[in-house]
Amino acid sequence: MSRKLSNRVAVYTGVFDPIHLGHLDVIQRGSRIFDRLVVGVGTNPDKAPFFTPEERVHLVEQVVTELSNVEVRSFSGLAVGFVRKEGAGVMLRGLRTTSDMEYEFTMSLMNRNLDPDIETVFLMAEAEYSHLSSTMIRQIASLGGALERFLPPVIKEALERRVRELQQGASK
Ligand code: ADP
Repeated sequence: MSRKLSNRVAVYTGVFDPIHLGHLDVIQRGSRIFDRLVVGVGTNPDKAPFFTPEERVHLVEQVVTELSNVEVRSFSGLAVGFVRKEGAGVMLRGLRTTSDMEYEFTMSLMNRNLDPDIETVFLMAEAEYSHLSSTMIRQIASLGGALERFLPPVIKEALERRVRELQQGASK
């Protein structure tokens, strides 16, 4: 626990299954605030993912290539543990709606308890993207809905491909 943490370095964690324009907006804004921003791709033990951790890391990498101070890594276990390992003093989060507030508030208190050296910083979601969630996007994709307003083109193509694979697999 002795490593010095830098407040110029932030970590933005999520499942990113897949990354969408709301996530990307937080990453772009975070990259302008901090010297270095690490995107931590984690897992959700409650949900079977559409994309493997390796695929999710690769998808995020493809949409942040122009942000030279952004790095992408996968992690498992506690997010605060990963944040400390990266030498970051800040955990960056996006806040969508008032319904996110309660969960995020509890989570930030818990994380402060786990590691008081790490501060959580919230960016309010851009109004245009404040309704976006990966869960909803996966559902829309499964039902054949239009995705271009929510996803960068390369992610849209990957998701449509994965939905076709899953549907072909299910019909066999
Ligand atoms: P999702 O449920 O969309 O997969 P995650 O649970 O992986 O997202 O969340 C990762 C982080 O991104 C969290 O801080 C979450 O609040 C934030 N986030 C998710 N969707 C948006 C959005 N549309 N705009 C801004 N931040 C968002």
